[in-house]
Amino acid sequence: MIHIKTPEQIEAMRVAGRISAKVLRKTGELVRPGITTLELDRFAENLIRLEGARPAFLGYGGFKGSICASINDQIVHGVPSNEVVLTEGDIISIDTGGVMEGWYGDNAATFAVGEIDAQTAKLLEVTEQALWAGIEAALVGARLGDIGHAVQSVAEAAGFGVVREYVGHGIGREMHEDPIVPNFGRKGSGAKLKAGMVLAIEPMINAGSYKTKGPFDDGWIVYTADGSRSAHFEKTLALTADGPDILTRE
Ligand code: MG
Repeated sequence: MIHIKTPEQIEAMRVAGRISAKVLRKTGELVRPGITTLELDRFAENLIRLEGARPAFLGYGGFKGSICASINDQIVHGVPSNEVVLTEGDIISIDTGGVMEGWYGDNAATFAVGEIDAQTAKLLEVTEQALWAGIEAALVGARLGDIGHAVQSVAEAAGFGVVREYVGHGIGREMHEDPIVPNFGRKGSGAKLKAGMVLAIEPMINAGSYKTKGPFDDGWIVYTADGSRSAHFEKTLALTADGPDILTRE
């Protein structure tokens, strides 16, 4: 069931969204060669709590971090670790969110560690463009498939693969609510988009094949099947008659 939020509830979600955006930005500013993903996680957790929120991811399904830190060929759900040391040329997707007054925020971005090669830089650029294309398609009266179609068109035009098994989602009192928001789809298909829906749109785009593998023994980390790199950007937005209203921004 899709929960439609009132304007007051959207304002409450904006508080969680603003904190989530600040934590993502400031954690991203720490990304550099030599730092561990556990250090990034500790920083993010402290900042979320300083802002008066609770980490949305910590303890979720038993997850041990306040961020998902997914490097290189890891698509999503990277587990923060003091054994993962970032190296020049890596990329890292940081996915994080806070809960405030029971409302969730969720956002992600992929950061370069020092200098990255041109193909990887293109992957990051195209994935962010694909997210914006999806956001621009999130119009009242359009359909869910229009969002997926917009994301997929941008990614595939650049020759990249769109992950199928992991998707965006509704968000509100729960981190994952209906509907699922695929990053692929047909124009004009799926549920009609209504004012008051709040969605997390999050393209996961691979430099190679869209296929995934894992999770393996750790129970979490999802990899590209072919070892190619993967990028991930995400924002939480409310649908309004005036167009998409991004909640995860400062
Ligand atoms: Mg999400």
